[in-house]
Amino acid sequence: MTLTEKVRVRAGELGFGLVGFAPADPLEGAAFYARWVALGYAGQMGYLERNNEKRADPGQLLPGARSVVCVGMQYYQESAPKNDTLSGRIACYARGEDYHGLVKARLLELLEFIRGVAGPGVAGRAYVFFLGELLLDLELEYGQPAIDHCGTCTRCLDACPTQAFPEPYVLDARRCISYLTIELKDSIPRPLRAGMGDWIFGCDLCQEVCPWNRRAAPAQEPAFRARPGLENPSLPEVLALDQEEFAARFRHSPLKRAKRRGLLRNAAVALGNAGDRRAVPALVRALADEEALVRAHAAWALGRLGGEEAGTALRAALETEQDAQVRREIEEALAEETMHE
Ligand code: SF4
Ligand code: SF4
Repeated sequence: MTLTEKVRVRAGELGFGLVGFAPADPLEGAAFYARWVALGYAGQMGYLERNNEKRADPGQLLPGARSVVCVGMQYYQESAPKNDTLSGRIACYARGEDYHGLVKARLLELLEFIRGVAGPGVAGRAYVFFLGELLLDLELEYGQPAIDHCGTCTRCLDACPTQAFPEPYVLDARRCISYLTIELKDSIPRPLRAGMGDWIFGCDLCQEVCPWNRRAAPAQEPAFRARPGLENPSLPEVLALDQEEFAARFRHSPLKRAKRRGLLRNAAVALGNAGDRRAVPALVRALADEEALVRAHAAWALGRLGGEEAGTALRAALETEQDAQVRREIEEALAEETMHE
């Protein structure tokens, strides 16, 4: 077996279902990426705007870089059907263990293997998404560049509930539910809240409609299996978590990235979208949350659900609320037609 073949086999043993090899040339798509950033599509993800010269040239990340080993780890999980309008949804990649540490550790194991075969002096650097990359300063046998698999299909563009694709192959992250529920630290823009449906952390819709995913097999990696309570979680329960409970429940989970205030904000929006006034008591309690961000989104949700109980609570909250943004949200909620039904 050649070194490349050995690496492919070892990567498979380490759980990487996808493995490819490319020369570490300057990135062909660098101008496309720079345009994407310039158009503001990265939103608050400042880390995507930094180090662009390094992104565009692997040689700047690892002196003498010659090859990139690209790997992918399967994370798909079948979803149990929801049987309660007051439960939310979490993207399937996030229902188990946080992938960052796991994938990185596996990539470093692959690097150690390569050093074992090709010599201890091999230099390498590992980068992680569910797609991982290992930069190496040695030559490998390279595959063919990927071809366009989309053709005339526009299913993901059509399925996106917040119209996050301004054109094929271009995602405006600022409109994407994954960004809104995880990366955005502030208030969710009002016009996008209804489209978020019941997603409280990420979104799988564009993946689910893609014909290439039809035959996706569930992940083999046990660490990615859903933890109890992370499939269709009860939204009133999420909205009632205090800081200590949040930390305990989401230790080693990707959900901790949203922080308590972000996750409760998302749960409030999802309850507003649930169209079920059984959500009102949980939202009324959230009107007194210590975080203004949570109070503001609870007010919006109560305005969306409407009814007497919601109206009474909103008027009472307006008597004492000090935060200007929350006050605005309460006033807008009280002006909703649902309040007068
Ligand atoms: S993850 Fe959801 S919101 Fe984001 S682009 Fe895909 S369908 Fe749209
Ligand atoms: S659904 Fe899949 S195949 Fe269709 S356009 Fe989107 S990514 Fe391409």
